[in-house]
Amino acid sequence: MANLILVLNAGSSSIKFRAFDADSKELDLVLYGQAEGIYTMPRFTACDRHGETIHEKSWEKSAGLGHQGALEFIAEFLMSHRGDNRLVAVGHRVVHGGMDFDGPVLVSPGVIARLAKLTPLAPLHQPHNLGPIRILAETRPQLPQVACFDTAFHRGQPELAQAYALPASITEQGVRRYGFHGLSYEYIASVLPQIAPHAATGRTVVAHLGNGCSMCALDGGKSVASTMGFTAVDGLMMGTRSGNLDPGVILYLMDEMKMDARRIEDLLYRQSGLLGVSGISSDMRQLLASEEPRAQFAVDLFVYRIAREIGSLCAALRGIDALVFTAGIGERSAEIRSRVCEAASWLGLALDQDANERGGPCIGASNQTVSAWVIPTNEELMIARHTRNVIRMVRT
Ligand code: ADP
Repeated sequence: MANLILVLNAGSSSIKFRAFDADSKELDLVLYGQAEGIYTMPRFTACDRHGETIHEKSWEKSAGLGHQGALEFIAEFLMSHRGDNRLVAVGHRVVHGGMDFDGPVLVSPGVIARLAKLTPLAPLHQPHNLGPIRILAETRPQLPQVACFDTAFHRGQPELAQAYALPASITEQGVRRYGFHGLSYEYIASVLPQIAPHAATGRTVVAHLGNGCSMCALDGGKSVASTMGFTAVDGLMMGTRSGNLDPGVILYLMDEMKMDARRIEDLLYRQSGLLGVSGISSDMRQLLASEEPRAQFAVDLFVYRIAREIGSLCAALRGIDALVFTAGIGERSAEIRSRVCEAASWLGLALDQDANERGGPCIGASNQTVSAWVIPTNEELMIARHTRNVIRMVRT
């Protein structure tokens, strides 16, 4: 019999889950899957630890599955597939921990109330993250739940890195840089000592390039600056998000183009980035394969923005010893890695092209002062580790 830790990542239209063996030293993966399209055409898939599909189900038009229905289905599935195993805790990905939470926390009614108050800081994500926490707190009050935050890893950044040049009265109300993708950066920082010891102790820029994209400056494994700020729309150009934008553009959209807040939100979060610039797709694979000039321009802009932000993070670090690529594009696209490193070659960065084609982990040319790496991220494992640590602490 094994004790299981379940990790839930609830988004606006999907709930992803992973079950880990809490008794194994490295938290071995037992099974994983997701319910997606939960408000439209729900589809459930689950795989075993080898990636073999063990269950699939599709629903015709949504019978109101929603978050509650999807969670119930996942719970029933886990009950019927757990064998002798026992669920000992659930770890959740929660996008915002605000100023209060600089690490994972055991969920209590008081914590849920404090997290709900942060909803205005992340209206598109926080309510979805909190949904399953609330449902489980009601239906399984004895089951320990742990909330793990995308912001927490950045809470230790210097005050200067967190501040906007706004009046203090506004900063005091929480309008400051929080940074996101923290669980991904924390995972990378945790494996650097084994993979690249000099990067673990030195000045390292990590590029998390997925549908969401950001970069983080690590000094001795600690976050000192990041490209995302108050919200996860800041910084790099992403799949459908604009990234960095002159705030004057927002005023122009409101005053001259008569857009309201919701319309601008849709524009900046869902209609911009690779999709908006190319007019073709938010999917990097499709753009790289396309001959369309607009697709090529979108990729050029994506690389240019990364290269400029690398310069900015190097300034925050006062130098650079290593560059790490991670997430969908960072882990799988040798072409984007090659183009980014070429644009940043002035830093003393060059690739070993064969190693880059193979996908690393070390992809930097051996004669360069700055090393380059490909390291797959694992946010869910990071959440499982936090969850195990928190419940162990509670028990002792
Ligand atoms: P999310 O941020 O949703 O977790 P991922 O980390 O899975 O997303 O990254 C998705 C992105 O990775 C998409 O833009 C996809 O096109 C890109 N991607 C996946 N595989 C490749 C590949 N082989 N080459 C280029 N881009 C890829």
